[in-house]
Amino acid sequence: MREIEPHVSGVECLFVPQTGIVDYTAVSEKMKDQLNALGVEIHFNEKVIGISRTESASHVQTNAATYSATLVVSCAGLHADRLPA
Ligand SMILES: Cc1cc2nc3c(=O)[nH]c(=O)nc-3n(C[C@H](O)[C@H](O)[C@H](O)COP(=O)(O)OP(=O)(O)OC[C@H]3O[C@@H](n4cnc5c(N)ncnc54)[C@H](O)[C@@H]3O)c2cc1C
Repeated sequence: MREIEPHVSGVECLFVPQTGIVDYTAVSEKMKDQLNALGVEIHFNEKVIGISRTESASHVQTNAATYSATLVVSCAGLHADRLPA
């Protein structure tokens, strides 16, 4: 274990050679560029404060704007259950 990670402590470990450490900021930037190229808009620093639904669409209200879509996927992590539906 310590040959690979000198600061780890434990009894035994599994070594999975296919794993790695990535620069996730760089991964995110690349994903953003590719999505932007497909016409996707990404809005940063907006807090979702409400989600409502009408017959034709769902409406996501943030502190800055309201966005309407036929499908909304909420990815708020551990806070997903706190997002008003
Ligand atoms: C200390 C720590 C170490 C970890 N290490 C690993 C690891 O080594 N490997 C691994 O696979 N997993 C690891 N995990 C777990 C991993 O981080 C989570 O499983 C993963 O981040 C979940 O992704 P997610 O997109 O569902 O949620 P998140 O990454 O939590 O993203 C949710 C996002 O929604 C945003 N959000 C919440 N509410 C609102 C709102 N009202 N309006 C707008 N935005 C909102 C939050 O700000 C956040 O940016 C670790 C977790 C922790 C806490």
